[in-house]
Amino acid sequence: MIAEFDTYPDKDRDWLVHQLAVITSELYNAHIVYGSTQAQERSARVHAFLTSTETTVSGRERDAEAQSLKRVANAVLKYWITKRAPMHAGECLECFGGNGYVEESGMPRLFRESPLNSIWEGSGNVQCLDVLRAMIKEPASLEAFFAEVAEGASQEPRLAAFADSVRTEVPGDVATIEPRARRVVERMALALQGSLLVRYGDEAVADAFVASRLAGDWGQAFGTLPPGVDFNRIIARHRAVA
Ligand SMILES: Cc1cc2nc3c(=O)[nH]c(=O)nc-3n(C[C@H](O)[C@H](O)[C@H](O)COP(=O)(O)OP(=O)(O)OC[C@H]3O[C@@H](n4cnc5c(N)ncnc54)[C@H](O)[C@@H]3O)c2cc1C
Repeated sequence: MIAEFDTYPDKDRDWLVHQLAVITSELYNAHIVYGSTQAQERSARVHAFLTSTETTVSGRERDAEAQSLKRVANAVLKYWITKRAPMHAGECLECFGGNGYVEESGMPRLFRESPLNSIWEGSGNVQCLDVLRAMIKEPASLEAFFAEVAEGASQEPRLAAFADSVRTEVPGDVATIEPRARRVVERMALALQGSLLVRYGDEAVADAFVASRLAGDWGQAFGTLPPGVDFNRIIARHRAVA
């Protein structure tokens, strides 16, 4: 298997590693590896992250306000998605156990390269400065952004409360906004992700996201979701189809 793997072109190797990650998640889901709710939760967390990212990217492209929204939302989401990538890659690597540490698995390479996104897509600070530039030079982009968030907030009180608190910070005192830039942009990304998940995402995924990311009911690592999250439903909808 490894000998054949070495002969694959890079893109096929990446695809294969991804498929193996899905299969490994399946093992977790089926309780074959540990049979613990912790493993189940971790798998759910990885899937929830992927879903929120996919949903976020495919948002509201054709809307008339799209240009204003895109001006600010692109930089907001680039910042947050690229910042989260290393954590996500590390968690995926760990799913393989010791095999994930072995170079031939392909995971070390994916992990090693994951911080690159936050350099060549524009470094984190520079993405945040771009958001500040947009909100100060093109206030319409900020209005379009919060209008998009409000569409979800009208359906979810926890999102509404979170969006209100972000709104008070943005732009806030312009003289102090640079040191606050990362905090503000991260919170804008969470608000937008929440809004899109509430409207277009799966109910269980949206609820887990809102409870943890927006209402703060989670720890500092993956696998710390609150009780009551519908793990079975989240995992079931991500099962690989043969
Ligand atoms: C593998 C790879 C491939 C690449 N491919 C391409 C390509 O195909 N085309 C292309 O055009 N470019 C490419 N790049 C270049 C890439 O776009 C730059 O590396 C990137 O924009 C960061 O710029 P820099 O390397 O000059 O870092 P710098 O801008 O010097 O940043 C260094 C650090 O300073 C911080 N910083 C910089 N400015 C500020 C500021 N004003 N305030 C606060 N903090 C700041 C940054 O956040 C960062 O942490 C590639 C880079 C890599 C690593």
